[in-house]
This record gives sequence, structure tokens and C-alpha cells, in this order.
Amino acid sequence: MRARDWSDTNAVAAAATGCQVCGRQGKLQRAHIIGRARYRGRPQGDDVAMLCVCCHGLYDAHRLDIYPHLTSAQRARAVVVAGGAGMALRRLMGARWRTAPGSLLDQRLRELEDG
Ligand SMILES: [Zn+2]
Repeated sequence: MRARDWSDTNAVAAAATGCQVCGRQGKLQRAHIIGRARYRGRPQGDDVAMLCVCCHGLYDAHRLDIYPHLTSAQRARAVVVAGGAGMALRRLMGARWRTAPGSLLDQRLRELEDG
């Protein structure tokens, strides 16, 4: 099995100055915005977010809403990779998918669908 090729995300990693969510500096990790199983081929630069260890752990545990911290290009890729705005938000919002008021969810769905 070939080692994973990070070439498309190397530029993202090199440009990162702090955690995309909390701004913490220091060691950052490449977090897959949508689960790895969804990709065909290699992840693109917009498929990863540079996160600190804490935020990465929370996101992978579905306990962090990263949607407000993503760029529009990352959101657009998440919709494509996840297979729709609803599927993307289910992942991006973590637990807030269930607990968020309908208005927030509806607002984000409209934003992504109009994208
Ligand atoms: Zn962080």
C-alpha cells in the first residue's frame, strides 16, 4: 500500500499560522473536514483544516462545530465530498446538528445550497 500523498495539502500546512478554530499556535494537525472514507483519490487542500490537537480531538469526537471557522472554499468542498449540504452540515456541526435551533440549521443550509 502506497503512503498517503499529502502534496495537495502541504501548501495549506505551510501557510497555517495558528489553529483555524481557536487560533492557538504551535503544533498543528491536518484534520479531514469530511471523513477519509468519502474521498476518491487524494484529499485536496480545501479538504483539510489545520487544527491544534485539542480542536482536532473535539472535532473527531463530533463535539465541535467548525462550520463558522471554515472558508467558503472549504465549505463548498465539504458539500461535494459529503454528497450534499445536509450531509456536510451533519458532519461539520457535530453535536450542534441535533441541538441547534432550526433557524441556525436552516440558515446554514440555505447558505450552503446557494453557495
Ligand atoms: Zn484549536
